[in-house]
This record gives sequence, C-alpha cells and structure tokens, in this order.
Amino acid sequence: MIIELPEHVTYILHTLAEHGHEGYAVGGCVRDVLLGRQPQDWDITTDAAPAQVRALFRRTLDTGLQHGTVTVMLDHTGYEVTTYRIDGVYEDGRHPKEVSFTASLKEDLRRRDFTINAMAYNEKDGLVDLFDGAGDLRRGVIRCVGTPGERFAEDALRMMRAVRFSAQLGFAIEPGTFAAVCALAPSIGRISAERIRTELLKTITSAHPMHMRLFYETGLSRYFLPEWDAMMETEQNNPHHCYSVGEHVLHSLALVPPEKVLRLAMLLHDVAKPLCRERDEAGIDHFHGHPQAGAEMARRILRRLKLDNETIAQVCGLIRWHDDNPPLTARNVRRAIFRAGESLYPAIFAVKRADIGAQSDYNKEEKLRYVDDYEAIYREIMEKKDCLSIKDLAVDGADLIAAGVPQGRTIGAYLNRLLELVLEEPQHNTRELLLEEVRRLRDEEEGGQKLQE
Ligand code: ATP
Ligand code: MG
Repeated sequence: MIIELPEHVTYILHTLAEHGHEGYAVGGCVRDVLLGRQPQDWDITTDAAPAQVRALFRRTLDTGLQHGTVTVMLDHTGYEVTTYRIDGVYEDGRHPKEVSFTASLKEDLRRRDFTINAMAYNEKDGLVDLFDGAGDLRRGVIRCVGTPGERFAEDALRMMRAVRFSAQLGFAIEPGTFAAVCALAPSIGRISAERIRTELLKTITSAHPMHMRLFYETGLSRYFLPEWDAMMETEQNNPHHCYSVGEHVLHSLALVPPEKVLRLAMLLHDVAKPLCRERDEAGIDHFHGHPQAGAEMARRILRRLKLDNETIAQVCGLIRWHDDNPPLTARNVRRAIFRAGESLYPAIFAVKRADIGAQSDYNKEEKLRYVDDYEAIYREIMEKKDCLSIKDLAVDGADLIAAGVPQGRTIGAYLNRLLELVLEEPQHNTRELLLEEVRRLRDEEEGGQKLQE
C-alpha cells in the first residue's frame, strides 16, 4: 500500500530519518487518505524527543510541549510532531495526569481511541495497522482500540467522539463499543462544556447529522443535553406532523446546509415543544408560544455549552421567528424584517423550508410556496434598498435636535415614529418629508398631546 504524502510531510519524515529517528504520519490523516478524502491536517509521530525535534527544524512552536508536541512550521503551515507517548492515569476521566514518552510506535498507537484512528504510515514501513483499522474502515465500523469500557473510563469524551466519527463517516458503532458507551454514559457529566461543545458541533455539522439520535439512544445526551431527550420523547398528534418532535428535528437537520448556526437553529427550534404541548378535546396537540419559549431555553442551553454571543444571538433569533408567517404584502414583510432583525435574513428561509420539509405532507406544497413568495418579496425589498431600521432613516438624532426636538428619550420616540411611517410608505424616507413629519408631531405635542415614549 503506497500513500502519496505531501512534500512537507516527506521532508519532515526524511529529516527525522537522516538523524536516526523514526517518524510516521498518523491518526486522522491516514484514515482520511484511506477513505479517499483530503486530510485537514497531517500529524506526525516520532521517537525523537521534543528537544531533538526542535533542534532539527528552523521554525518551530512549542504548542503542546508538556504533551510532547512541537509544531514544525513550513511555508506558513504547521505540522504537529508528537513524541511517541503513553498516557498516564486519567484520574478525573478528563486529562491524563501525566504523559510519558516511549520508544515504541506500538505503545503510541495503543493509546489512541479508535482502530480507524490508530494507523501510521511512512515510506519505509508502509501502512502500520496493528488493530485492523483498515478492515473497520472497509466495514464502516467505529471500534475502540482495546477494551471499550477501559478506554472510556480513561477518557469519557471518547464516548462522544464515537458518535461524532459515526456521524462524520456514516459508520455504525461496533456493538461492544456501543454497549460500553451505554454503560458508562453518566460519566460524560465530568467532561468540560468546551470539550462537549466541540464534539456536539462536529456531530450536527457532519454529513450525517441524524446520528444525533445516537446521543439519545446511548443515554449520553441525558447528561449534557436533557432537553434533547425530552424532544425525542414527545409525540405530536397534529395533522402537520408525522414524527415525534425529536424525529422531526433529525429530519430538519439534514435539510439545511452544514453550517453551525443553521444546524444549531434546527436542533433547538422546537426545544420548548415538550413544555408547551396542550392536547385539545379532539386529541390534537398544540404548541402555543413554543418559538418564544424555545428561544429563551436555547439561550440558556447555548450559554451552558459556552457558545459565543454572536452565535447565540443568531440561533435564538432564528428560533424566535421560525414560525412567523406574515400575510404576504410588502408592507407586512418590511415589518417582519424589522421585528426579527435584518441579520436573520435570508437564513430564516432555509430554516422555514427545512421545518416544513420535515413535516407531514399535509398542505406541504402550499406551505413551501408561501416561503417562496415570502422570499421573493424579501428580495424585492432588498433590491429597492427600502429603509428597514432607524439607521436607514434619511434623518438622524442630530437632525431632530436641530429641528428643535428636546434631547433625551424623546429623540428615540420620534425616530421610532418615523420608522413606522417609513415601513408603511418607503417612499416617504426623504429628509424633507421626514422633517415635515417631525414638525407635525411637534405641533401635535404642543397642542397638548404628549408623544408616547
Ligand atoms: P479531526 O481532526 O478531523 O477531528 P482526528 O482524527 O484528526 O479528526 P483529532 O481530535 O485531531 O482527531 O486527534 C488526532 C488523533 O489523536 C486521533 O486520530 C486519535 O488517534 C488521537 N486522539 C485524539 N483524541 C483522543 C482521545 N480523546 N483519546 C485517544 N486518542 C485520541
Ligand atoms: Mg486532527
């Protein structure tokens, strides 16, 4: 078996060999090449100690020195070169308390999580595959190196990684490995939110986001996203739906592009349904208020998972407005855009289409046509550059002060009134007409009616 290594990797391996060291490309890159995919980055494993690696290359960074990793820089690309290691005890199920170095490639491969991630390659030895990773790749299986229960006890995050790789590759989790995840699921509770977030995001933005189901089936999500379990366990008896909330969400995930914000929005768009469900006399379920309640729940969940504020704002906005269906006139659509905020457009249309796509066939064509028409009106409004917010008004606060409006909160109240006018009649967004309106409002006020703030 011959793998064509990139020039830089060959250079690093040759340099190591010239100085009497072993070196191999290892882990994810070997797996990806065998799958016929382009590796994201090339990691190298070697028997050379970190200090020796540093001495052999002109530019290096001490990125993970305590774990034996030196980053070698070649033409602005970094290659992680890690000394063969054996992980020490994982007292907290989180970090190895210490790592020790070893002279044996075999020991290094043995500490890796899954057989498909535990292969190494160089020109001299070809593929080093001690645990039949290539066979598991062919069979489409995620299998632990060694005894699954022991490996998950060392590092509980590996349980989420099993689900994540199954989602990225469309693989099954080998039954023994799967059973060990189920048995040890509660220990995921000891893992930091940051590490959990990484695996969750990689799972939902993968090629097979429906593997999100495995977090429920293994019992893992109960400990890091119990709201997901509630969705999986909530039926919806309603003509618009043919799935439980959770199954509906799984289908909707697969219907949006694999971007973080869109996938998170789909994952959580119905998160409040389990709490909002009301069954009427006819036995039909209703979920009044779920978009609003869902946006609030999602905010708490995403904070807990340590997502950044920008992502949280976008995702919660999409959830809040995913079910907003204005009657389709330009005026109503301008108001809807103002209500939700321009930054949610056009993403909101992808969310709405995926939501409908994952519903029953009842009125489906009609619902999809509605979204098409909605988007067409939105596009027209954008093309005309209609004013949609206070910052687009033809006048600003300073103009109002110059026109004699008292400073302070009154200014904001006036600007809101002007925006309302302009959302109704976009052609009124001229300095002249707006200042005329300001004069009219002021006269009105002097006539005794205080302008509502
Ligand atoms: P990707 O970078 O696409 O997420 P990868 O396989 O490169 O996939 P990394 O998290 O970058 O995954 O880890 C690199 C390699 O280190 C893995 O292929 C695996 O051999 C090993 N590894 C990473 N995390 C663990 C872990 N928690 N336990 C055991 N081995 C691990
Ligand atoms: Mg990697």
